Amino acid sequence: MRDGNEAAAGAALLSWYDAQARVMPWRVGPADRAAGVRPDPYHVWLSEVMLQQTTVAAVRDYFRRFTARWPGVADLAAAEDGAVMAEWAGLGYYARARNLLKCARAVAAAGGRFPETAEGLRALPGIGPYTAAAVAAIAFDEPAVVVDGNVERVVARLWAVETPMPAAKPALIDRAGRLTPRRRPGDHAQAMMDLGATICTPRNPACALCPVSDFCAAKAQGIAAELPRKTPKPEKPTRFGLAYVAFAPDGGVLLERRPDKGLLGGMLGFPGSDWAETAPAPCPPLAADWTPLSHEVRHTFTHFHLRLRVFVAQTEGEGFTPKSEFSPAALPTVMRKVWDLAEAGALPRRGDAPAPRDI
Ligand code: SF4
Repeated sequence: MRDGNEAAAGAALLSWYDAQARVMPWRVGPADRAAGVRPDPYHVWLSEVMLQQTTVAAVRDYFRRFTARWPGVADLAAAEDGAVMAEWAGLGYYARARNLLKCARAVAAAGGRFPETAEGLRALPGIGPYTAAAVAAIAFDEPAVVVDGNVERVVARLWAVETPMPAAKPALIDRAGRLTPRRRPGDHAQAMMDLGATICTPRNPACALCPVSDFCAAKAQGIAAELPRKTPKPEKPTRFGLAYVAFAPDGGVLLERRPDKGLLGGMLGFPGSDWAETAPAPCPPLAADWTPLSHEVRHTFTHFHLRLRVFVAQTEGEGFTPKSEFSPAALPTVMRKVWDLAEAGALPRRGDAPAPRDI
């Protein structure tokens, strides 16, 4: 895009958004907004936290369930930690759920109203620059510069920025700022999100349908799909671990809550080893006749692949969770895979792999 064209490109984007805005349970569409309907800051904040690292399709049901159970920020603030973690199960990146609760409690303690500026929102626990800017723009129409991966991609293409990420970030934030209008900044932020999610997609940008194609330098140069360029990432390492699933004769299961700090912090799981770079030594949580399953669980986290060897035993003892109180849906995804494998008695399932003999 040539300097000086920002206002025209922004206007074209908003006209497109007026006609094509996606309907979402947390969104106030452009027509309602123009008629004076304001978004609920609680809904905007909750959806933005849920949408970090997660798709809109995956978030819809979680958002509906959360807002049905906790209709306002004070309701969420008063919720039990375990109940919130259980509702969050399956959405991943569990530190978000713990921070969500901390933030809700901070807002409730301060009178139940969210700060109306990005700067004020930034002071709340768990709110980073992106979420602060998004909530300030969408809920309060502050002309904050909202830059996530979608926006970075659109801006890199509009200006044909060839510097690889993440070094290009400051330049992209600067250009996104030039594109942000003082009028309707909330609609502009959502229009950029929609454009990045539906038209200016990572692999096959639909430039023929794009409302800002006349301004787009990458399209003009025929390099749209190549941008933004990326510095190659190092390969993810693999870690190994053991998980123990103990069944009581009455169907009870031995569970433990993981420590608050660290990966899957505060979530329910099965006892087991640390996840290490080499195969860990056996560490059963109680004496029993443990049977190793013939298949292992594989799961990929942000920074590493995990291979979990699963052991099962029928036994009795203290601290079992009764069958009536156990719901696999309350487990994080990796632990649900462990449960599925243990319950199936090691029958091979898609995505599980035979365990090598030496683990
Ligand atoms: Fe993205 Fe193509 Fe639109 Fe440029 S013209 S912003 S590359 S969809």
